Amino acid sequence: MRILVQKFGGTSVANLECMKKVREKVLAARAKGFKVVVVLSAMSGETNRLLGLAKEWSTSPDPAEIDVLVSTGEQVSVALFSMLMKDAGVNSRSLLGYQVPVSTDCDHGNARILGINQDKLQALLEEHDVLAVAGFQGCTDEARVTTLGRGGSDTSAVAFAAALGCECEIYTDVEGVYTTDPNIVSTARKMDRVSYDEMLEMASMGAKVLQIRSVEFAKKYKVPVLVRSTFSDAPGTLVTQEDSRMEAVLVSGIAYDKDQARVTLRDVPDVPGIASKLFGPLAAGGVVVDMIVQNPSRENKTDMTFTVPRGDLDKTLELMAEIQKETNAAEVLHDLHVCKVSAIGVGMRNHSGVAAQAFDALRRENINILMISTSEIKITCLIEEKYTELAVRTLHDAFGLGKE
Ligand code: ADP
Ligand code: ASP
Ligand code: MG
Repeated sequence: MRILVQKFGGTSVANLECMKKVREKVLAARAKGFKVVVVLSAMSGETNRLLGLAKEWSTSPDPAEIDVLVSTGEQVSVALFSMLMKDAGVNSRSLLGYQVPVSTDCDHGNARILGINQDKLQALLEEHDVLAVAGFQGCTDEARVTTLGRGGSDTSAVAFAAALGCECEIYTDVEGVYTTDPNIVSTARKMDRVSYDEMLEMASMGAKVLQIRSVEFAKKYKVPVLVRSTFSDAPGTLVTQEDSRMEAVLVSGIAYDKDQARVTLRDVPDVPGIASKLFGPLAAGGVVVDMIVQNPSRENKTDMTFTVPRGDLDKTLELMAEIQKETNAAEVLHDLHVCKVSAIGVGMRNHSGVAAQAFDALRRENINILMISTSEIKITCLIEEKYTELAVRTLHDAFGLGKE
């Protein structure tokens, strides 16, 4: 039995007309002899609408109930799509996360997939030619519904492909993975191939075309992922292991992430253990701290500045208020109008001077850098949010990434 996983995102299932395009892609795979596991997202805007309802109805909505609520978006998509397939004479059925089941941990809103019942899937695929599977959702051992974090249908799709040992196609509203977001830089160039490591950095740095965990999964289980468009027949981008066919470039892409907040605790005592006192409670509270800078301020005092996802700012400020009292720190400051821009490329491993080139490019546009962090294959600068597009375009040009 030849199996293929095809995933379609929110814009691809936004209405009947789009869903008919999806059906064409699935029928094309059927014509090539594949049994198709079709992983669907909620119709575009629906997950946000449902999250908005939860906020409107409750002052502090129960995370487990939010998951029951938002997972309905994907339920609507798979039911409607399965109807469309049946209209075309295809033997299809819908499947929700708990019916597979897609087993996850209990981290509501950000659950991790622990396993997928492969035998059940194989058996269902013997009986059906197409399975329309709800992305983004799973269930715990106690049969509670969970969701996998925003953009989580990508991860569902790769996990299904890993479980079934097949390839995975991710269909979206752009023709593949580009050197930067093609919706903000018109000269962005589509890449034919990109390595798991580069894609991982691009996703972590904000390129939402693939959810980070989907790339981690693909890398771990060596699943080739082809990103392509629902609305054209362009060949797309293959996300795969690094190989000689990949372009030998220094920087392969620029990513940006506006989902950032900067927090500063001013004038904390500059003594051993202070960082652990600050960051311990944040880690325990599930807040992922990203960039960190410590700057001596006055005698025996230091300023600690760090970034967190915007959604975690309130929790972070609550924790910092306690720590401020405990440590006698002068004040807690925060700023929501910041953005992280990153240059990514495996070529950086063997070259120096890339950071200097990036800083120089930003300087020429008078863009002030608030924080810097680097890894073996990326350079990240935190800047004021209003300069995001200019900074992304500037770095994209500086590293010669545009179309000729
Ligand atoms: P879907 O609903 O299909 O999951 P998403 O909106 O999650 O789609 O992801 C696709 C979007 O990712 C594109 O419309 C594009 O704006 C954005 N994007 C950001 N960076 C990149 C990149 N480097 N290459 C391609 N798309 C990118
Ligand atoms: N519907 C979910 C979201 O909007 C999952 C996804 O689209 O991948 O985040
Ligand atoms: Mg997505």
